[in-house]
Amino acid sequence: MQYEAVIGLEIHAQLLTDTKIFCGCSTEFGSEPNTQTCPVCTGMPGVLPVMNSKAVEYVVRTGLALNCEISSHSRFARKNYFYPDLPKGYQISQFELPLCEGGYVEIPGNGSNRRISLTRIHLEEDAGKNIHEGSASDSFVDLNRAGVPLMEIVSEPDIRTAKEASDFMKKLRTIVRYINVSDGNMEQGSLRCDANVSVRPEGMKELGVKTEIKNMNSFRFIEKALDYEIKRQIKVLQEGGRIVQETRLWNSEKGITESMRSKEEAHDYRYFPDPDLVPIEFDTSWIDEIRTHMTELPDVKKKRFMNEWDISEQDAELLASERSTAEWFEETVQLGADPKAACNWIKGDFMKLLHEDNILIVESRIKPLNLVKMLGLIDKGTISGKIAKTVFEEMYKTGKKAGIIVEEKGLLQMSDESGIESIIDDILADNSDAVEKFKAGENKLMGFFVGQVMKETKGKANPKIVNEILRKKLG
Ligand SMILES: [Zn+2]
Repeated sequence: MQYEAVIGLEIHAQLLTDTKIFCGCSTEFGSEPNTQTCPVCTGMPGVLPVMNSKAVEYVVRTGLALNCEISSHSRFARKNYFYPDLPKGYQISQFELPLCEGGYVEIPGNGSNRRISLTRIHLEEDAGKNIHEGSASDSFVDLNRAGVPLMEIVSEPDIRTAKEASDFMKKLRTIVRYINVSDGNMEQGSLRCDANVSVRPEGMKELGVKTEIKNMNSFRFIEKALDYEIKRQIKVLQEGGRIVQETRLWNSEKGITESMRSKEEAHDYRYFPDPDLVPIEFDTSWIDEIRTHMTELPDVKKKRFMNEWDISEQDAELLASERSTAEWFEETVQLGADPKAACNWIKGDFMKLLHEDNILIVESRIKPLNLVKMLGLIDKGTISGKIAKTVFEEMYKTGKKAGIIVEEKGLLQMSDESGIESIIDDILADNSDAVEKFKAGENKLMGFFVGQVMKETKGKANPKIVNEILRKKLG
């Protein structure tokens, strides 16, 4: 029997507001414990939360970018549970009437895009953090994170494979970064993902019993954890067992999911509307204004790169997947670079260097104009494409302009025919065996001769001229 997996995701994204959701405390990451707290976010009696309108705006912006319907009427609810990192004894969240409903995310499918539907997006506050290190007998609570605004994005169970789940997350991360509502940093936990996973015999409509998978803090772990869980569930069913509804944690060291708590221990949150916060009524002109100021989204950019600049789909996807890369690329073209040449440099040498240093393109010393000028030197024949690689690396390391590097390092391309000819004569004389073989029909030796000339000239000979002279001499 063939089984198919059914996966739905719940994603929490920390919003990029400067202050918390219901008070003026800073949201900065990494400060000393409890230095960013006040009576509101520590849940003192008698305080009143005041909504941070930026947080609402960011969720609306996300809703618009993800094709959701923005609710005209929305409200907050208390989610009640006891835990030491939750000082009020409840989390302010949304239950009925979330800010956004519906919508979808498009991911690469077989030949065409696959549309993964969304259920809703709502706004809520984060809890604090329990710290167990540093003492054998005590635990500590850091409330810096309590009250930091989170957006929860819930997908429909439309996802069928672990790869689709990670593609969905990648796309979502790209979009929240594009529209500047979250930094999408999975390692620091500002983008987190839980998955509901079940399997069923292919063709069956009914859903199987699901498990909830937590603790997957990278795209790679999402894929590995879900792959493992799908295989585990199929094996249980094939052996005549049944799936237990439970929460399971991904253990990246062992490469398995492990049972954390079963349904029986699950909470009843007793949601009810928060009486301290007024319901939200949206003014359509405010929504329209957010829509008007929306940046161009990655899929639109990608299509534009393909249609206007003839960039391949794969390259366009790569360039558009990070907003700063896409904008950097656009700037080079606006400054006169040939789009394909610029794209090749960015996706090749540049991305390799950026990846090694783990930095974004905007953080590098090379500015768009530097690349444009270097491409100009290649076009004019001042430097060869091979030398350009050296120049590029030097630009990356030092931030110097291409022209200056060529000057300082004496990298000017040799285009002087008589000079090249005399070098070629020497090489042919030294390699008479190879010349004989070439004349006897071993055409591939041409590459050997070109290589020798390049070695002799340290890559500076103009390859076009080298080829011409060689062909004349050997022909
Ligand atoms: Zn506070």
